Amino acid sequence: MPKFEKIPMKTPIVEMDGDEMARVMWKLVKKSLIEPYVDLRTEYYDLGLKHRDEANDKVRLEAAEAIKRLGVGVKCATITPNPERVKEYGLKAEWPSPNATIRKQLGGTIFRKPVIFKNVAPAIRSWKSPIVVARHAFGDIYDAQAISFDHDGKLTLSFSYDSSSVSSSREVEGPGVAEAKVNSLMSIEDFASACFEYALREKMNLWFAAKDTISKVYDAAFKRAFARLYEERYAESFHKAGIEYAYYLIDDAMSRAVRSEGGFVWAAKNYDGDVISDLVSAGFGSVALMTSELYSPRGWAEFEAAHGTVQRHYYSYLRGEKVSTNPTATIFAWSGARRMKAKLDSTPELQRFSDALELAVRKTVETDNVMTKDVAALAGISTFVTLEEFIAKTRQNLEALLNR
Ligand code: NAP
Ligand code: MG
Repeated sequence: MPKFEKIPMKTPIVEMDGDEMARVMWKLVKKSLIEPYVDLRTEYYDLGLKHRDEANDKVRLEAAEAIKRLGVGVKCATITPNPERVKEYGLKAEWPSPNATIRKQLGGTIFRKPVIFKNVAPAIRSWKSPIVVARHAFGDIYDAQAISFDHDGKLTLSFSYDSSSVSSSREVEGPGVAEAKVNSLMSIEDFASACFEYALREKMNLWFAAKDTISKVYDAAFKRAFARLYEERYAESFHKAGIEYAYYLIDDAMSRAVRSEGGFVWAAKNYDGDVISDLVSAGFGSVALMTSELYSPRGWAEFEAAHGTVQRHYYSYLRGEKVSTNPTATIFAWSGARRMKAKLDSTPELQRFSDALELAVRKTVETDNVMTKDVAALAGISTFVTLEEFIAKTRQNLEALLNR
């Protein structure tokens, strides 16, 4: 029996369960590292593919609504179905991505930050401090209209309002495909200000990268919003904080980033941010060391691990094999959510518990050299532990910290 009383929670967190190995880790992390210590209050939504299919996908929207009501959500990775998944799970439909729904409902910006362990050298050797990728959580190809056509013809993009309209057309060669993405200037402004605020709070330089030389309307609107906000609101406070804002063409930014020492916030449009965050997480080590935090301008927040459902490990696990899946980002997602809840509810003991749990993970890796396979490979250590062993060691470290 633990010698401490469970930490109470005043209001619940929205808990969104998911799929495959991520779901297995979710349950383990909760059972071993949270529930014995916290009187956990959550409002549970099962976003697992099977349940989404049974519920005709309504649960996606219900979860998003719950976050608006309760302020903070924590989400497990979920499968975004493709035709193979439709067959594998016998789905009624190729349901859309739950993440895209939640991002669209909440708006705001996703900040992806690597967890850096001192004994794990980044794959990109010049990187010394975290690169936080700020991804605009709205619009782009995630909310696009697309068509395919069989013949040569005229393609028209048009917008109409009351009796007025704007449009642009050109002749195209068929057969072909076309896609129209959309964004809102208000959302772009919110995105830019979220990035400036984050950079200021964390005292990190801010980059925004896009391709306005080619995308003279769409990307140019982003570039203008950043430039204007900076001049009007942030130039002085950035100067005082000793940090800088810079705009780069995205291809230039790619090569600068790889040669840099890190230590900046890299703001990107929705799709660019999706791609860059995988590059950055692989560059720092493992995708399992990357967390993802969505902050909406209306004060709501959602926390998750940046990796997916780890399908390959799940199939090994189902065959009864021992797997060495890394739960770090899952643990940090939960602690991020609890920390935010602690701030909203003024429950500092919940904050202290989250700090202790993160420190326990650090001790496991940095002091005890106990690592899952992905991290051991980066640290140049030939021995590694299973998921269960990693969690058991972390629990031991946590108990030692809590009993101190
Ligand atoms: P993934 O689940 O991130 O896994 C890709 C590979 O990265 C794994 O096979 C594994 O490499 C490594 N990896 C990821 N997480 C790890 C962890 N915690 N510990 C150790 N290694 C880890 O990506 P995916 O295989 O492309 O996608 C699988 C499913 O996840 C898809 O159905 C996709 O829709 C979904 N997905 C969901 C989200 C989300 O909900 N946020 C995000 C991305 C993808 P090794 O096999 O080499 O060990
Ligand atoms: Mg991605």
